[in-house]
Amino acid sequence: GPGLKVISTLSVGFDHLALDEIKKRGIRVGYTPDVLTDATAELSVALLLSVCRRLPEAAEQVKSGGWTTWKPLWMCGYGLSDSTVGIIGLGRIGQAVARRLKPFGVRKFLYTGSGPKPESAAEFGAEFVPLTRLAEESDFVVVTCALTPATQGMCNKDFFSRMKKTSVFVNTSRGAVVNQEDLYDALASGQIAAAGLDVTTPEPLPTDHPLLSLKNCVILPHIGSATYATRSTMAVLAANNLLAGLRGEPMPHELKL
Ligand code: NDP
Repeated sequence: GPGLKVISTLSVGFDHLALDEIKKRGIRVGYTPDVLTDATAELSVALLLSVCRRLPEAAEQVKSGGWTTWKPLWMCGYGLSDSTVGIIGLGRIGQAVARRLKPFGVRKFLYTGSGPKPESAAEFGAEFVPLTRLAEESDFVVVTCALTPATQGMCNKDFFSRMKKTSVFVNTSRGAVVNQEDLYDALASGQIAAAGLDVTTPEPLPTDHPLLSLKNCVILPHIGSATYATRSTMAVLAANNLLAGLRGEPMPHELKL
């Protein structure tokens, strides 16, 4: 409405806000960075492991009677040991993902972004590379960047065609970073091994969406920050942002526009 003075979003992402209009009208925006980093990184790792070790598919086999005699290659997947992991967007969540994956025996971390971040990368010995090289060399690609005009549709046909047939793609950032038609083609044709998505376009994803027909694709309903403790902390922070905004005081976390 015309009297809108303050927005408090229960998220770190702000791609859903009309920032130009907000800026023009001098509306203040509060958001919830940091407090959801650990929960979202944890979910990213959980999704990655579910996908590469085929947990939903394997659990389904137990229920459906597909579990019969032991076969050496049945339900085999890909492990993190000695792997190369590519992180698209080594921000708060990207670093927290790398920190959690490192003890699994990852051999090499690659990352992309608007520029090298030597201080953040040092902890993982991560190498800044162009997106094309990240696609070509990574056994696991994890997308943790913000959705911006530059990242929209960044994971497209060209990107997937450079990935290895044995590689796994995970996106916990925003659905629009991925061209979903291109991802479907890459998964259906065996161009890449598997994918895990916590975010899609649209949300919710229609239950008859082609991606849901694929065995090698695991889709979650945007639950990155969904732990009781994290949601509670986010709610308190969002309320304090809103109250500070309404009182004309500095917000605990105000988006700099
Ligand atoms: P940060 O701002 O800390 O990190 C975002 C990263 O995106 C930065 O490191 C930035 O890199 C990178 N980035 C920007 N432009 C590009 C580009 N062109 N190519 C590659 N990387 C780029 O944010 P957070 O880590 O806190 O959150 C990241 C995103 O995760 C949020 O924007 C949100 O969309 C999503 N999210 C999803 C959740 C879920 O439930 N699934 C929960 C929480 C967040 P650089 O510094 O080099 O520009």
